[in-house]
Formats: sequence, C-alpha cells, structure tokens
Amino acid sequence: MLMIPGPTPVPEQVLLAMAKHPMGHRSGEFSALMAEVTEKLKWLHQTQNDVLILAASGTGAMEAGIINFLRRGDRVLVGNNGKFGERWGKLARTYGLAVQEITAEWGQPLHPEDFKAALEADIDKQIKAVIVTHSETSTGVLNDLETINRHVKAHGDALIIVDAVTSLGACSVPVDEWGLDVVASGSQKGYMIPPGLAFVSVSEKAWSAYATADLPRFYLDLGPYRKDGAKHTTPFTPPVNLFFALQAALTMMQAEGLGAIFERHDRQRRATRAAITALNLPLFGGDAWASPAITAVMPDQVDAEQVRSVMKKRFDIALAGGQDHLKGKIFRIGHLGFVCDRDILTAIAALEATLQHLGYGPYTPGAGVSAAGQILLA
Ligand SMILES: *Cc1c(COP(=O)(O)O)cnc(C)c1O
Repeated sequence: MLMIPGPTPVPEQVLLAMAKHPMGHRSGEFSALMAEVTEKLKWLHQTQNDVLILAASGTGAMEAGIINFLRRGDRVLVGNNGKFGERWGKLARTYGLAVQEITAEWGQPLHPEDFKAALEADIDKQIKAVIVTHSETSTGVLNDLETINRHVKAHGDALIIVDAVTSLGACSVPVDEWGLDVVASGSQKGYMIPPGLAFVSVSEKAWSAYATADLPRFYLDLGPYRKDGAKHTTPFTPPVNLFFALQAALTMMQAEGLGAIFERHDRQRRATRAAITALNLPLFGGDAWASPAITAVMPDQVDAEQVRSVMKKRFDIALAGGQDHLKGKIFRIGHLGFVCDRDILTAIAALEATLQHLGYGPYTPGAGVSAAGQILLA
C-alpha cells in the first residue's frame, strides 16, 4: 500500500488498460487516442493552452519548462522552500541562468511579499521568469501560487513557471484563469498511473518566448511536440501503454469530476491532520499552508524511521521519510491520487498499532481513528 507522494496507487482499470498489446504509434488508432487524452488533459489543467506529453519523469517536464523559454544569462526568480524548489535552482544554474532564490525555511511557505519586493525592484524588467513549486512535496507545504502569480502579473514581463507535480489533480490549478505560462506535472503523482509520462502546459506568451530562446535542446524541444501534437502524433516513439493508462485514468477522473476530486483530497488532508493531532504527534508545518497531497509529521517521542519500518514490515504500508536535513526527523503520509477514505482509516489504525508497539505513551488508543472518522463522515 503506497502512501508515499509518488509513485501513487494505480487503479485496477488502469493496470488492465496497460496490459494490452502496444499499437503502432503512427496508426490512426493511436492518433485517436492522442486526440482524446489531449482534450482530457486540457480539462484537468482547466486550459485551452497546449498540454504536451513527454516520455520522462517529472524532472523532464521541469527541464523542458526551462530550456524552451529562456536565454543564457536570463535572470530568474526561483522559490526555494524545500527539495524541489532547490532542484529548480540547480536546473536553472545548469543552463547558465542567473538565479535569484526567494527562500523560506523548510516547513514554512514562501512569502508572496518577497516576490513582490523583488519584482517591483526590477524596473528595467530583467527578470524573465518566476518559478514556483506549488505543492512542495518534501515538506508538505502548499505555496500561495495565486498571490505570487498576481505579483508576477503586476510585473508584466516575466513568465510564471509552475511545478504542479503534486498539486495538479489534488487541488485546483486553474491555468487559464490565473494565466499560468508553463505548468509541469508527472504521471506517477495525481494522475493515478505509473511513472514515465510528464506533462507541460504552455501559454501563448510562453510560445512567444520560445521563438527567441537559445538554450540547447533536442529531445525536450517542445516545438516538435506542438507541431506533431496538432496532428495528434508525437515526434518520437511514445510509451504507448502508458497512453492507455492515461486514457483510463483521465476517464475515471472525469467521471468523478474536478470538484469532487479536490474535495476528496481536502477531506483526506483534514482527516489525516486531525488524526495526527489527536495522537499528540507534532505536524510539520501549519494547517494554513498544508498540501492536499501529503502530510509531514515530526515526532518527538518516537523515532520517525522506526515508525516507517514497522508500518512497512508489519502492515505493508509504505510511508515516505524526510530528505536531506530532515532525514530521520520526519515521516510523510501521502494521500494523493487513487486514495479512498478507507485507505486513510487503514493507515491511521496501522499507525496507532505501530505507536503502541514502539511504546509511544502520550495518546489514547483509538483517538486517531476517531478524529479521522469524524471528518471523513462529516
Ligand atoms: C515528484 C516531484 C517532481 C518530479 O520528480 P521526478 O522524480 O522527476 O518525477 C517534481 N516536483 C515535485 C514537487 C515533485 O513532488
């Protein structure tokens, strides 16, 4: 049972769809499939922009988001309050961009005011892009993309490039309404399919920047993906079976509805947090900026790695650990994608048994399940 923020659980319908024999990717059949999934992706992104499909992990979409729209030496603002924000900085520096980081402590959200100040100070419009990780998976923090983006729009020139890898399909990312220029995501997160596909949505404004961008690119050059995409085909051999999976998963998502999907993630986030609090375990990060995809816990009277180990060995439930300086200090419960309310109750009940087994004292057995149940059934 995967309760990590990717790879996430995959529904049986999706697994069965993948078990088909692959089809030729230059066939009419594949073009029909490509047309269908592209329309459905636009629905998920709430956009009329191009949404392009890459055979890559999420980082491939991040890299495509940089190299297609910027020029060597361009100044970019990068929000960094965790492992993935840090990765964006590394990636941008690799391509010779002049990176100015806007940082916040891990577990804290980025402060929109910091972006406002940096953007207002940029009178000669040297900042070409602002890069924000919406849901910072390493800490369970949901950054205030809407407000940060408002400051980017006030600046006028800079592109807004968004890592929506663990927010897309978990909470609303209204690409057109907010005017998000580039949005990156990956299949093993909110999409309910295995790793291997990455997605990038691209606005008209970003395509204008593409025309003058000069960073080296070949496999991840989005131009050919757009041109071939218009004819419902791909520049290179796509992972055809993952497209079957994508079709099945997006069909399930449409049947559930965007509003219901976001409500479910919000409910499970609240239930998980209420249960953790009821067990007297300290949450890592406040309720006001809690990610709908993942809850980080920083236990002080029980060892985080022991909790993960017992959960895995005795209950076959995989929880995520901490990264870098948080290694061994936090554990993270994923509730992203194909997760039902029963999964949350199961994980919390198993956690209670684990705590008891490890001799953790300060809680009342049943308190976590009770707190989660009250929210799930409210
Ligand atoms: C998972 C993830 C990525 C992409 O990671 P890959 O391992 O390349 O798929 C990027 N950003 C965030 C916030 C993520 O959670």
